[in-house]
Amino acid sequence: MHIEIATLFPEMCEAVLGESIVGRARKAGKLSLHCRQIREYTQDKHRRVDDTPYGGGMGMVMQCEPIYNCYKAICEDLGEKPHTIYMSPKGTVFDQKKAIELSKMDNILILCGHYEGVDQRVLDKIVDEEISIGDYVLTGGEIPAMVVADAVARMCEGVLSDEVCFTDESIYSGLLEYPQYTRPEVWEGESVPPVLLTGHHKNIETWRHEQSLRITAERRPDLLAKYNAQND
Ligand code: SAM
Repeated sequence: MHIEIATLFPEMCEAVLGESIVGRARKAGKLSLHCRQIREYTQDKHRRVDDTPYGGGMGMVMQCEPIYNCYKAICEDLGEKPHTIYMSPKGTVFDQKKAIELSKMDNILILCGHYEGVDQRVLDKIVDEEISIGDYVLTGGEIPAMVVADAVARMCEGVLSDEVCFTDESIYSGLLEYPQYTRPEVWEGESVPPVLLTGHHKNIETWRHEQSLRITAERRPDLLAKYNAQND
């Protein structure tokens, strides 16, 4: 799949999404991701991309024209309109189900707002959906865009070494994950649960499932109720 991020701070996104698992997947050609500088699409001689809000008020609003020009250039490069997402605290709250849905698309474009936000007219023209990463306000859409891009990328075929890497995890499986342990066997007097050292796969699986049920009941009874309803 291909992910475009339209932003005033592409270096911020590149610094994160060029590293680790997503960075390696990009280099290996399992995923393509491009960060675009919206400022390159302004026709203003001072490269301005924002102005004061009509009606008064604090801060600056990102203007329509640079964003629309950037969008048109992306459409031209891709040969089609990408599914366009605006990161916004007013959007639907992001979850694993949405990450899976987006990972099945060929092209997505994530638009990052900054300052007080974006002129509504360009949002009305190009945006398919608005996504929030939670009920709090950040200074810009870059961190939210990276959250979405990372969660979507790891759902794409070939990005993780094995599908089990995500099907077994918290949320995806419907439950929170069991506790994990690695070497040494005893640390600060604390031992690894003995069942994990037996090599008995069935018992390990049963123990992990019980732990998942216990943790989910303690921390997320809402998830457990959903899980029980689906597995009855
Ligand atoms: N004035 C806007 C409001 O009250 O809805 C908030 C603007 S915020 C300071 C600047 C940008 O950060 C937004 O345009 C959006 O792209 C991004 N942003 C902030 N919080 C976000 C969140 N919780 N989820 C997604 N994007 C967010």
